[in-house]
Amino acid sequence: MSELNPFVIAQRQLDECARILNLDDSVREILRVPMRELHVSIPVRMDNGKIRVFQGFRVQYNDARGPTKGGIRFHPDETIDTVRALAAWMTWKASVVDIPLGGGKGGVICNPKEMSQGELERLSRAYIQAISQIVGPEKDVPAPDVYTTPQIMAWMMDEFSKIHQKNQFGLITGKPLELGGSAGRGDATARGGCYTIREAAKHVGLDLKGATVAIQGFGNAGNFAASLVCSLFGCKVIAVSDSKGGIVNEAGLVGEAVLKHKANTGSVVGFPGSKPISNEELLELDVDILIPAALENVITDANAGNIKAKIMCELANGPTTPEADDILYKNGVHVIPDFLANAGGVTVSYFEMVQNFYMYYWDEELVHQRLDKKMTSAYHATLQASNKYGINMRKAAYVVAVGRVVEAMRLRGRL
Ligand code: NAD
Repeated sequence: MSELNPFVIAQRQLDECARILNLDDSVREILRVPMRELHVSIPVRMDNGKIRVFQGFRVQYNDARGPTKGGIRFHPDETIDTVRALAAWMTWKASVVDIPLGGGKGGVICNPKEMSQGELERLSRAYIQAISQIVGPEKDVPAPDVYTTPQIMAWMMDEFSKIHQKNQFGLITGKPLELGGSAGRGDATARGGCYTIREAAKHVGLDLKGATVAIQGFGNAGNFAASLVCSLFGCKVIAVSDSKGGIVNEAGLVGEAVLKHKANTGSVVGFPGSKPISNEELLELDVDILIPAALENVITDANAGNIKAKIMCELANGPTTPEADDILYKNGVHVIPDFLANAGGVTVSYFEMVQNFYMYYWDEELVHQRLDKKMTSAYHATLQASNKYGINMRKAAYVVAVGRVVEAMRLRGRL
């Protein structure tokens, strides 16, 4: 049975990397745990006049390479261990794409689907107030994540600006364009993943024109990926899914039309001309490219042996367990690991910070060009490490990322 606690998995991945890099035990001990975590209780007045107390977290994992950075999740099943794992992965993600930031993450245990806009606004403002001492443009910069939106970022930025009595656009990224957001942030995660798919296809010798694709999850990451693999490379998306189930059509699905159907009906299921398929079956389809873009731990030792894709691009965080990784590597599936594959979001978030600092904004084309350059060189640095050490791409991404963090710690005199 696989261990499914994401923080235990993150620590195991680090331990393996420490072994490959032959890191001193004391260095490994520092890197295994967050440098700081804040737990807050957040009283919020609800629409019925009663006060409800929400639990929230902010974890700052490592800031050796720069201010910590990472999204805020609003989710009923949020746990401190998930936030810790995501903060660790943010550290490695910022490092592997070589942006001058550390890693952090935040979360509030709540169900935004059951809250009014007013309640959500009061919770968002109260959360940023509660963590205001440890965040800021040069300390720790949050962003959107699961169930948090540009509107929520705008409320948080406004509240923080009030506390500091000046505009603080650089506090947070993923803001609306009218409030210092960056062009190209909307599809940045999926677009960054697509650039790595392009490089991976060259490596494995796959012609992307007409290559078949299955995508699990049709939210922000998944639905942009569906459109982009078609528009950038001429791939054919044959299956997509969401929490209610999946659909398949061997002749190809048009992303925009499926999105419209989902907007009208609440799910991709029932899209005209498609056949239903379960989320589990989708992962095992005979496709060239598989894109998990939903949840953690969907590929385990129980199903990894059945995956037929040549390239697997992990837009989701933590979709694959370590046991599954070994099976995929043995079977020759070329995995582009999560913190490399989905680093496009944080990269454009970093571009947003840069633009906020100098108050001058780039057009979308420039953002795409700079994103492409970062993602392409991160992919090749990882591939090079994979070849050099004879290890899979996830271990290689760790080797590149952790190596850079350790070097920054050494230069700062922390080791
Ligand atoms: P989202 O909330 O927009 O979409 C999530 C999608 O997953 C939805 O379509 C939902 O229906 C689907 N889903 C939920 N449960 C499912 C299940 N059991 N089986 C199949 N599908 C299910 O979230 P998102 O922003 O697209 O994030 C998806 C993943 O990508 C997460 O792991 C997230 O951490 C990661 N990610 C996102 C970004 C980003 O910029 N959006 C950046 C980095 C990583």
